[in-house]
Amino acid sequence: MPPARIGFWVLTLAAFAFCARAALRGPPPLWVAAIAIGLYLGAVMAGVLFLNLRVFVDAVLTGPEDARGVALTFDDGPDPKTTPRVLDALDKANVKATFFVIGQKAEKHPEVIKDILARGHTLGLHSYAHDRLFAMRGPGRWRADLTRGIEALEKITGERPRWFRPPIGHTNPHVSGVLAELELVVVGWSVSARDGTAGKSSQVTARVLKGVRDGANVLMHDASERESHDPPGVAALPKILRGLERKRLAVTPLKEWIEDESENVHPARDRDRARSRRRSPR
Ligand SMILES: [Zn+2]
Repeated sequence: MPPARIGFWVLTLAAFAFCARAALRGPPPLWVAAIAIGLYLGAVMAGVLFLNLRVFVDAVLTGPEDARGVALTFDDGPDPKTTPRVLDALDKANVKATFFVIGQKAEKHPEVIKDILARGHTLGLHSYAHDRLFAMRGPGRWRADLTRGIEALEKITGERPRWFRPPIGHTNPHVSGVLAELELVVVGWSVSARDGTAGKSSQVTARVLKGVRDGANVLMHDASERESHDPPGVAALPKILRGLERKRLAVTPLKEWIEDESENVHPARDRDRARSRRRSPR
Protein backbone atom coordinates (compact mmCIF):
# COMPACT_ATOMS: atom_id res chain seq x y z
CA MET A 1 0.00 0.00 0.00
CA PRO A 2 1.40 3.46 -0.84
CA PRO A 3 2.92 5.13 2.28
CA ALA A 4 0.68 8.21 1.91
CA ARG A 5 -2.43 6.02 2.02
CA ILE A 6 -1.23 4.31 5.19
CA GLY A 7 -0.61 7.76 6.66
CA PHE A 8 -4.11 8.86 5.67
CA TRP A 9 -5.71 5.83 7.33
CA VAL A 10 -3.69 6.41 10.51
CA LEU A 11 -4.82 10.03 10.52
CA THR A 12 -8.45 8.95 9.97
CA LEU A 13 -8.28 6.54 12.92
CA ALA A 14 -6.70 9.30 15.01
CA ALA A 15 -9.57 11.63 14.01
CA PHE A 16 -12.13 9.04 15.19
CA ALA A 17 -10.23 8.58 18.45
CA PHE A 18 -10.09 12.38 18.88
CA CYS A 19 -13.88 12.68 18.39
CA ALA A 20 -14.57 9.75 20.74
CA ARG A 21 -12.36 11.33 23.41
CA ALA A 22 -14.15 14.66 22.97
CA ALA A 23 -17.54 12.94 23.34
CA LEU A 24 -16.49 11.08 26.51
CA ARG A 25 -14.37 13.68 28.28
CA GLY A 26 -15.74 16.93 26.95
CA PRO A 27 -14.56 19.13 24.08
CA PRO A 28 -10.85 19.99 23.76
CA PRO A 29 -9.68 23.64 23.74
CA LEU A 30 -10.75 25.43 20.57
CA TRP A 31 -7.20 25.85 19.30
CA VAL A 32 -6.52 22.10 19.62
CA ALA A 33 -9.74 21.29 17.70
CA ALA A 34 -8.84 23.88 15.00
CA ILE A 35 -5.36 22.38 14.50
CA ALA A 36 -6.78 18.83 14.36
CA ILE A 37 -9.45 19.78 11.80
CA GLY A 38 -6.90 21.75 9.75
CA LEU A 39 -4.49 18.81 9.72
CA TYR A 40 -7.15 16.38 8.58
CA LEU A 41 -8.52 18.69 5.88
CA GLY A 42 -4.96 19.27 4.68
CA ALA A 43 -4.44 15.51 4.36
CA VAL A 44 -7.70 15.12 2.39
CA MET A 45 -6.75 18.00 0.07
CA ALA A 46 -3.27 16.54 -0.54
CA GLY A 47 -4.91 13.24 -1.49
CA VAL A 48 -7.31 15.01 -3.88
CA LEU A 49 -4.70 17.22 -5.55
CA PHE A 50 -1.66 14.96 -5.82
CA LEU A 51 -2.38 11.76 -7.74
CA ASN A 52 1.23 10.68 -7.27
CA LEU A 53 0.56 10.16 -3.54
CA ARG A 54 -2.03 7.49 -4.48
CA VAL A 55 -4.13 8.17 -1.39
CA PHE A 56 -7.54 7.47 -2.94
CA VAL A 57 -6.70 5.44 -6.06
CA ASP A 58 -3.95 3.15 -7.27
CA ALA A 59 -2.07 4.55 -10.24
CA VAL A 60 0.76 3.54 -12.54
CA LEU A 61 3.36 6.30 -12.16
CA THR A 62 6.56 4.87 -13.65
CA GLY A 63 7.82 1.76 -15.37
CA PRO A 64 8.71 -1.32 -13.31
CA GLU A 65 11.98 -1.27 -11.34
CA ASP A 66 14.01 -2.78 -14.17
CA ALA A 67 12.41 -0.58 -16.86
CA ARG A 68 14.62 0.88 -19.54
CA GLY A 69 13.83 4.00 -21.50
CA VAL A 70 11.16 6.66 -21.15
CA ALA A 71 7.41 6.62 -21.91
CA LEU A 72 5.84 9.68 -23.53
CA THR A 73 2.19 10.48 -22.87
CA PHE A 74 0.08 13.32 -24.28
CA ASP A 75 -3.09 14.78 -22.74
CA ASP A 76 -6.03 16.98 -23.78
CA GLY A 77 -6.27 16.11 -27.50
CA PRO A 78 -7.24 15.36 -30.10
CA ASP A 79 -6.80 18.64 -31.95
CA PRO A 80 -6.72 18.65 -35.78
CA LYS A 81 -4.11 21.43 -35.74
CA THR A 82 -1.60 20.34 -33.11
CA THR A 83 -2.00 16.55 -32.71
CA PRO A 84 -0.75 15.84 -36.29
CA ARG A 85 2.39 17.89 -35.53
CA VAL A 86 3.07 15.66 -32.53
CA LEU A 87 2.39 12.55 -34.61
CA ASP A 88 4.78 13.73 -37.34
CA ALA A 89 7.57 14.37 -34.80
CA LEU A 90 7.04 10.92 -33.25
CA ASP A 91 7.04 9.30 -36.72
CA LYS A 92 10.25 11.07 -37.65
CA ALA A 93 11.95 9.65 -34.57
CA ASN A 94 10.22 6.30 -35.16
CA VAL A 95 8.85 6.08 -31.61
CA LYS A 96 5.43 5.25 -30.11
CA ALA A 97 3.53 7.17 -27.44
CA THR A 98 0.23 7.15 -25.56
CA PHE A 99 -2.54 9.73 -25.99
CA PHE A 100 -5.02 10.38 -23.18
CA VAL A 101 -7.84 11.95 -25.13
CA ILE A 102 -10.95 13.89 -24.11
CA GLY A 103 -14.14 12.07 -25.17
CA GLN A 104 -16.02 15.11 -26.47
CA LYS A 105 -13.03 16.27 -28.54
CA ALA A 106 -12.71 12.72 -29.93
CA GLU A 107 -16.35 12.91 -31.08
CA LYS A 108 -15.57 16.17 -32.88
CA HIS A 109 -12.36 14.89 -34.50
CA PRO A 110 -12.69 11.12 -35.01
CA GLU A 111 -10.28 11.26 -37.96
CA VAL A 112 -7.47 12.38 -35.65
CA ILE A 113 -8.22 9.49 -33.27
CA LYS A 114 -8.02 7.06 -36.19
CA ASP A 115 -4.73 8.65 -37.32
CA ILE A 116 -3.25 8.19 -33.81
CA LEU A 117 -4.07 4.48 -33.94
CA ALA A 118 -3.03 4.05 -37.59
CA ARG A 119 0.42 5.37 -36.69
CA GLY A 120 0.80 2.71 -33.99
CA HIS A 121 0.17 4.71 -30.81
CA THR A 122 -2.04 3.80 -27.87
CA LEU A 123 -5.17 5.56 -26.65
CA GLY A 124 -6.28 6.18 -23.09
CA LEU A 125 -9.24 8.16 -21.74
CA HIS A 126 -8.88 11.57 -20.14
CA SER A 127 -12.62 11.81 -19.23
CA TYR A 128 -15.48 12.88 -21.50
CA ALA A 129 -15.80 16.56 -20.59
CA HIS A 130 -12.53 17.40 -18.77
CA ASP A 131 -14.49 18.87 -15.88
CA ARG A 132 -12.05 20.97 -13.84
CA LEU A 133 -14.15 20.33 -10.74
CA PHE A 134 -14.27 16.58 -11.28
CA ALA A 135 -12.77 15.97 -7.84
CA MET A 136 -15.81 17.68 -6.26
CA ARG A 137 -18.27 15.35 -8.01
CA GLY A 138 -19.85 12.23 -6.57
CA PRO A 139 -19.60 8.68 -7.95
CA GLY A 140 -22.75 9.07 -10.11
CA ARG A 141 -21.25 11.98 -12.04
CA TRP A 142 -17.90 10.18 -12.45
CA ARG A 143 -19.63 7.03 -13.69
CA ALA A 144 -21.76 8.98 -16.21
CA ASP A 145 -18.80 10.98 -17.57
CA LEU A 146 -16.43 8.04 -17.85
CA THR A 147 -19.06 5.76 -19.39
CA ARG A 148 -19.79 8.43 -22.01
CA GLY A 149 -16.06 8.81 -22.72
CA ILE A 150 -15.55 5.05 -23.03
CA GLU A 151 -18.52 4.78 -25.39
CA ALA A 152 -17.27 7.71 -27.51
CA LEU A 153 -13.88 6.04 -28.05
CA GLU A 154 -15.40 2.59 -28.52
CA LYS A 155 -17.66 3.95 -31.27
CA ILE A 156 -14.69 5.39 -33.18
CA THR A 157 -12.10 2.67 -32.63
CA GLY A 158 -14.13 -0.47 -31.88
CA GLU A 159 -12.07 -0.92 -28.73
CA ARG A 160 -12.76 -0.10 -25.13
CA PRO A 161 -10.06 2.11 -23.54
CA ARG A 162 -8.46 0.46 -20.50
CA TRP A 163 -6.38 3.32 -19.16
CA PHE A 164 -7.57 6.53 -17.60
CA ARG A 165 -5.78 9.70 -16.57
CA PRO A 166 -7.95 11.96 -14.36
CA PRO A 167 -8.31 15.59 -15.51
CA ILE A 168 -5.58 17.67 -13.82
CA GLY A 169 -4.73 14.49 -11.88
CA HIS A 170 -7.38 15.15 -9.23
CA THR A 171 -9.30 12.32 -7.56
CA ASN A 172 -11.49 11.89 -4.48
CA PRO A 173 -12.42 9.18 -1.96
CA HIS A 174 -15.40 8.02 -4.08
CA VAL A 175 -13.69 7.21 -7.35
CA SER A 176 -11.84 3.96 -6.81
CA GLY A 177 -15.12 1.97 -6.79
CA VAL A 178 -16.26 3.54 -10.07
CA LEU A 179 -12.87 2.91 -11.70
CA ALA A 180 -12.88 -0.74 -10.61
CA GLU A 181 -16.44 -1.13 -11.91
CA LEU A 182 -15.42 0.29 -15.31
CA GLU A 183 -12.15 -1.71 -15.24
CA LEU A 184 -10.03 1.38 -15.82
CA VAL A 185 -6.38 1.44 -14.78
CA VAL A 186 -5.31 4.90 -13.65
CA VAL A 187 -2.10 6.20 -15.22
CA GLY A 188 -0.32 9.10 -13.54
CA TRP A 189 3.13 10.41 -14.43
CA SER A 190 6.56 10.89 -12.93
CA VAL A 191 7.79 13.86 -14.99
CA SER A 192 5.53 16.75 -15.98
CA ALA A 193 6.47 19.00 -18.89
CA ARG A 194 4.07 21.59 -17.41
CA ASP A 195 3.17 22.55 -20.97
CA GLY A 196 -0.60 22.71 -20.50
CA THR A 197 -0.50 26.49 -20.30
CA ALA A 198 1.25 28.90 -22.62
CA GLY A 199 5.00 29.11 -22.08
CA LYS A 200 8.38 28.89 -23.73
CA SER A 201 9.19 25.64 -25.53
CA SER A 202 12.86 25.94 -24.46
CA GLN A 203 11.78 25.78 -20.81
CA VAL A 204 9.63 22.73 -21.51
CA THR A 205 12.55 20.98 -23.25
CA ALA A 206 14.91 21.76 -20.36
CA ARG A 207 12.35 20.63 -17.74
CA VAL A 208 11.68 17.27 -19.40
CA LEU A 209 15.32 16.48 -20.17
CA LYS A 210 16.33 17.36 -16.61
CA GLY A 211 13.68 15.06 -15.11
CA VAL A 212 13.96 11.94 -17.26
CA ARG A 213 15.71 8.72 -16.33
CA ASP A 214 15.04 5.04 -17.06
CA GLY A 215 11.42 4.22 -16.22
CA ALA A 216 10.19 7.84 -16.40
CA ASN A 217 6.60 8.44 -17.52
CA VAL A 218 6.46 11.91 -19.09
CA LEU A 219 3.27 13.97 -19.16
CA MET A 220 2.98 16.38 -22.09
CA HIS A 221 0.08 17.95 -24.05
CA ASP A 222 -0.74 17.53 -27.74
CA ALA A 223 -3.52 20.13 -27.41
CA SER A 224 -4.52 22.91 -25.07
CA GLU A 225 -7.48 22.13 -22.85
CA ARG A 226 -9.72 24.84 -24.33
CA GLU A 227 -8.15 24.95 -27.81
CA SER A 228 -6.92 28.45 -26.96
CA HIS A 229 -3.22 28.10 -27.91
CA ASP A 230 -0.60 25.65 -29.13
CA PRO A 231 0.93 23.92 -26.10
CA PRO A 232 4.67 24.73 -26.00
CA GLY A 233 5.39 21.00 -25.75
CA VAL A 234 4.36 20.60 -29.40
CA ALA A 235 7.23 22.82 -30.58
CA ALA A 236 9.54 21.35 -27.92
CA LEU A 237 8.94 17.70 -28.86
CA PRO A 238 11.53 17.35 -31.69
CA LYS A 239 14.19 18.83 -29.36
CA ILE A 240 13.10 16.57 -26.51
CA LEU A 241 13.35 13.51 -28.79
CA ARG A 242 16.85 14.54 -29.91
CA GLY A 243 17.83 15.16 -26.27
CA LEU A 244 16.61 11.70 -25.23
CA GLU A 245 18.69 10.19 -27.99
CA ARG A 246 21.75 12.10 -26.74
CA LYS A 247 21.07 10.76 -23.24
CA ARG A 248 20.76 7.27 -24.74
CA LEU A 249 17.23 6.95 -23.38
CA ALA A 250 14.95 5.04 -25.76
CA VAL A 251 11.26 5.93 -25.98
CA THR A 252 9.32 2.91 -24.71
CA PRO A 253 5.59 2.42 -25.34
CA LEU A 254 3.76 2.56 -22.02
CA LYS A 255 1.95 -0.68 -22.84
CA GLU A 256 5.25 -2.56 -22.47
CA TRP A 257 5.29 -1.55 -18.80
CA ILE A 258 1.68 -1.35 -17.85
CA GLU A 259 0.86 -5.04 -17.74
CA ASP A 260 3.55 -5.51 -15.08
CA GLU A 261 2.50 -2.41 -13.22
CA SER A 262 -1.22 -3.15 -13.44
CA GLU A 263 -0.55 -6.21 -11.27
CA ASN A 264 -0.03 -3.68 -8.52
CA VAL A 265 -3.33 -1.98 -9.14
CA HIS A 266 -5.31 -5.20 -9.34
CA PRO A 267 -4.54 -6.99 -6.07
CA ALA A 268 -6.89 -9.87 -6.95
CA ARG A 269 -5.14 -10.49 -10.26
CA ASP A 270 -1.81 -10.17 -8.49
CA ARG A 271 -2.83 -12.79 -5.97
CA ASP A 272 -4.03 -15.16 -8.71
CA ARG A 273 -0.78 -14.75 -10.63
CA ALA A 274 1.25 -15.34 -7.49
CA ARG A 275 -0.74 -18.52 -6.88
CA SER A 276 -0.24 -19.76 -10.44
CA ARG A 277 3.47 -18.92 -10.20
CA ARG A 278 3.70 -20.96 -7.02
CA ARG A 279 1.85 -23.82 -8.71
CA SER A 280 3.95 -23.83 -11.89
CA PRO A 281 7.00 -26.14 -11.79
CA ARG A 282 10.36 -24.37 -12.05
ZN1 LIG B 1 -6.00 17.50 -19.09
